[in-house]
Amino acid sequence: MPLDLDGIGMTSQRARDRLARTLIEMGIESELILDVMRKIPRHFFIDEALASRAYENTALPIGFNQTISQPYIVAKMTEVLIKNKELGNVLEIGTGCGYQTVVMAQFAKYVYTVERIDGLLIRARERFQKLNSSNIRTKHSDGNIGWPAHGPYDGIIVSAAPVGVPKALIEQLAIGGRLIIPIGETGKQKLLLITRSQDEYIEEYLDSVSFVPMLSGIDASR
Ligand code: SAH
Repeated sequence: MPLDLDGIGMTSQRARDRLARTLIEMGIESELILDVMRKIPRHFFIDEALASRAYENTALPIGFNQTISQPYIVAKMTEVLIKNKELGNVLEIGTGCGYQTVVMAQFAKYVYTVERIDGLLIRARERFQKLNSSNIRTKHSDGNIGWPAHGPYDGIIVSAAPVGVPKALIEQLAIGGRLIIPIGETGKQKLLLITRSQDEYIEEYLDSVSFVPMLSGIDASR
């Protein structure tokens, strides 16, 4: 999918290659994903003051009390969604700085991404434009209700942790589709993979994780 890296200076290739090696050691196997992680400039998504840390395998602050997800988690969640599957429409809850969105957009026909904090979404949109990411659509809304207009989705990826799976997200999953979501209170979250088959939802718990909580309603701060 389209990604225009000409305007932003492809420095730090060595740092990205090193990050990819860390991801391999941690168990990421998909060459497709590793290639994308080697290519997408994570430093472009965070404040310049933190840019030197962009290729460490850690979460970093992005303002508004939120964080950019850890690269391993971005790779892992993407890997789970794309495994042996062609993705049409994908829904993302929690755009944040937009890094996961752009990674996902390399594998889906369209990514529909929802963020509750206006200030984060405004900045993420600017980044999508600069990268010419033409298959991303954004919405300032509460992800608890999903984005019904473009569903059902082949994949749903949630980057903030609710205590239970929002019903709307389950309903917006296509048959054969997968939902990956962190579940639980701070300090005891797990990644949950839900696969929808013809007549049931199959649940599988994966890694222990640490996400910001999923909140309700929207936040107009800029
Ligand atoms: N993948 C993003 C993660 C950002 S942190 C990144 O790497 O930048 C999680 C994001 O989820 C935050 O931006 C937070 O505002 C958002 N969020 C939390 N609850 C939400 C909700 N109910 N609807 C939409 N977004 C939500």
